Amino acid sequence: MNYVDEILQRVKEQNPAQPEFHQTVEEVLESLRPVIDRNEEAYRRNAILERMTAPDRAIQFRVAWVDDQGQAQVNYGYRVQFNGAIGPYKGGLRFHPSVNMSIMKFLGFEQTFKNSLTSLPMGGAKGGSDFDPRGKSDREVMRFCQAFMDELYKYVGADMDVPAGDIGVGAREVGYLFGQYKRLTSRYEGMITGKGMSYGGSLIRPEATGFGAVYYVNEMLKSFGDSIEGKTFAVSGFGNVAWGTVQKVTELGGKVVTISGPDGYIYDEDGINTEEKINFMLEMRASGRDKVQDYADKFGVPFFPGQKPWGVKADILMPCATQNEIKMPEAEQIVANGTKYYVEVANMPTTNDAMAYLKKNGVIVAPSKAVNAGGVAVSGLEMSQNSMRYNWTAEEVDAKLKQIMKNIYWNSFNAAKEYGMEGDLVAGANIAGFQKVVDAMMAQGVV
Ligand code: GLU
Repeated sequence: MNYVDEILQRVKEQNPAQPEFHQTVEEVLESLRPVIDRNEEAYRRNAILERMTAPDRAIQFRVAWVDDQGQAQVNYGYRVQFNGAIGPYKGGLRFHPSVNMSIMKFLGFEQTFKNSLTSLPMGGAKGGSDFDPRGKSDREVMRFCQAFMDELYKYVGADMDVPAGDIGVGAREVGYLFGQYKRLTSRYEGMITGKGMSYGGSLIRPEATGFGAVYYVNEMLKSFGDSIEGKTFAVSGFGNVAWGTVQKVTELGGKVVTISGPDGYIYDEDGINTEEKINFMLEMRASGRDKVQDYADKFGVPFFPGQKPWGVKADILMPCATQNEIKMPEAEQIVANGTKYYVEVANMPTTNDAMAYLKKNGVIVAPSKAVNAGGVAVSGLEMSQNSMRYNWTAEEVDAKLKQIMKNIYWNSFNAAKEYGMEGDLVAGANIAGFQKVVDAMMAQGVV
């Protein structure tokens, strides 16, 4: 049997009932076929794909904490340290009721390639909990974070594994997690990123994922002889990533007409383009209500309950919410609308069949592991600053981020070209990310 097919079968057998993990492995390995065919003997002999698809370790633990009513609560906590070949493990923590081992492995696997693409020395990891921050008091969130760190501190550290935020984990949670780590270990070190500016954070980190995504889009459009100026964008989500994206698109002369939440989407014909509107996204997030309808109520624009914005005619679509938002019906709608550019910003927002359909029908698809790598890239820059015990200015960090995103675009573009798949940015990102990790694994022997 072909090596890729063998591994796909093996991953399914060894990880039953983990569909998101199967999905990402399939997506990545399918596009790596030409690379693997070219090097099959060496890869097989060194069990590269077997090792690449098995996490270095996957930790699951109980998080027991007490709510404001005095009731004991129990959640599951996770940390999946997927691949440490090119640097200390690095990746965010997600607090959301949907979190399980499949989601953690999918995100950790993706993170390995994404981190490699940034060109910074970071291995891949992910963690989190099925804890639902919605409706919890600040004190409950703090107690939960402390209980979570009571176990996690054994596995993380500045030179070992450096978590960060993700869905449900923002500046507040990072602060509580850092405080508890310090209390437990007596170490003041950059063991988590996304920290506040008063205790070791980096300027531009909050904006980094969204800004980076738009820098990537800018480079991509330029390479197609196009530009952001005057283009209409449909965005989903209204969290940190959507916020950074809307800001930068607006600054570069584009118009964002939608954002969405679990309750539906809003359509703002004039664009989400004033300071008041953009700042309101932060207010909606901070309110903990998780409702985008609040935007429609405040600014008097249409709200579409229970719907996603993918039926809207826009030049560029940027899903910024969560995984598997775009399935076949949405993909068909996108193609029918004549959309030219589809840019994944959330991690794996597209099912594999929907992705194949978009590509087959001539939509230019930019993959999340390249597009959203700006977030973790600036996390890497936060680590550098912590190690130096020094801070760069916002301009310095922003310039580095811009350069990193430009390199990611061209490295992906050139990798696809080298294997005869010119213009396939999805395959290019997978190949470029994969190659560096494989080189490091080969050099370090069978471990
Ligand atoms: N959670 C973000 C991601 O998916 C950021 C990770 C980090 O900064 O370590 O890449």
